[in-house]
Amino acid sequence: MALLEINREECIGCGACVDVCPFGALKLIDDIATVNDQCTACGACLDVCPVEALKLPERPQAKEEGLEAYQGVWTWVEQFQGQASSISWEMLGQGRKLADQRKTTLTACLLGHQVEPIAKEAIFYGADRVFWVDDPTLAVYRTQPYANALVSLVRQYKPEIFLLGASSRGRDLAGSVATELYTGLTADCTGLEIDQQSNLLRQTRPAFGGNIMATIICPNYRPQMSTVRHRVFEMPTADKSRQGQIVAVSASMNEGQIASKVLEFITEQGEVNLADAKIIVSGGRGVGGQDGFGPIRELADVLGGAVGSSRAAVDAGWIPYAHQVGQTGRTVRPDLYIACGISGAVQHLAGMGTAKVIVAINKDPEAPIFTMANYGIVGDLFQIVPALTAQFRKKLHK
Ligand SMILES: Cc1cc2nc3c(=O)[nH]c(=O)nc-3n(C[C@H](O)[C@H](O)[C@H](O)COP(=O)(O)OP(=O)(O)OC[C@H]3O[C@@H](n4cnc5c(N)ncnc54)[C@H](O)[C@@H]3O)c2cc1C
Repeated sequence: MALLEINREECIGCGACVDVCPFGALKLIDDIATVNDQCTACGACLDVCPVEALKLPERPQAKEEGLEAYQGVWTWVEQFQGQASSISWEMLGQGRKLADQRKTTLTACLLGHQVEPIAKEAIFYGADRVFWVDDPTLAVYRTQPYANALVSLVRQYKPEIFLLGASSRGRDLAGSVATELYTGLTADCTGLEIDQQSNLLRQTRPAFGGNIMATIICPNYRPQMSTVRHRVFEMPTADKSRQGQIVAVSASMNEGQIASKVLEFITEQGEVNLADAKIIVSGGRGVGGQDGFGPIRELADVLGGAVGSSRAAVDAGWIPYAHQVGQTGRTVRPDLYIACGISGAVQHLAGMGTAKVIVAINKDPEAPIFTMANYGIVGDLFQIVPALTAQFRKKLHK
């Protein structure tokens, strides 16, 4: 149901709202504006209505006048089976920088059961304080108890900024928490910085299919929430001499209140860990088919690396999605990225542009990938890749 309310008595049927609606949610019927379910309550129409016939309901929380009450930078520490995900430390590393710029404290939120060593690790990675919620209901990730615990903490302690890793769990959790708190959330950010003038968090992310970078602010609601993908920010170095405060907090739900139960975990077959790979050899449409990944795999094996791919190869069904690098695939930060038969579309570059050394192999000397590459080889990948494999095999005695 659309949130926009239209006063039919006041509406003069001028159509100004219809023209500005970015979602095509408004149209004139019998010279009166009507709204459909496409309405996202963005509010673009409110400003142009000359007779103030349009209204959105008041948001229940985080009113502008209360913003000063929100202080400090928070991050969520994701863990699975007692192991913290490295993305959590990346968030703490960036959180530390933002907290220092804002001259405020950095708090990590750790939810789980019997995971206290991770709380200490969070301090080594930059947290000043850790909220540690230890409860059997939090032993495995479930949206309801996790979101509930974080929402309770936010309501009580009021952070200004809250960062979560854009993992599967982080995306799920961030959306639930932001919705419950009625605040803004910018997903999949590639840059976060504090605006010098306004002190607002500038959240940069690709928009319009990756063709532009949009910088988004959340001026009227708190906390300012962002998710960031794995490998976008550098991993900080743990400092075991750091001291901090660990605050034990009680869980806010009991098992009887939670709607879901985890029955078992099934590990996905052929899972690849592209995010942590130091060397990635990727194939694109240029490999020509499933078998074309043979030489790519051989080179990756000899180098001890992982196999990546472009979306074109995934969409063609030549390789599973888990290998896809790019805006809608994985973000990677290897020491060496070898792109074979990949043109270098912006959406692909968005996922691998921070690789330390990029080697591109492409038969088209004008391919955009060469503008990013440290080393470019123009030619047929089916000649070049096996030749490289043979040379590396010799040099590495494999
Ligand atoms: C919203 C959105 C999200 C997207 N997300 C992603 C994403 O996450 N990741 C991604 O990769 N793409 C993504 N894309 C798709 C992206 O725009 C490109 O279509 C895609 O990256 C192209 O893949 P490619 O480079 O393999 O294919 P192509 O662009 O077709 O390039 C193939 C290249 O192979 C070269 N070639 C052909 N044969 C040979 C040979 N024998 N030897 C050497 N070179 C050869 C050609 O010269 C060409 O440069 C997304 C697009 C959209 C709209």
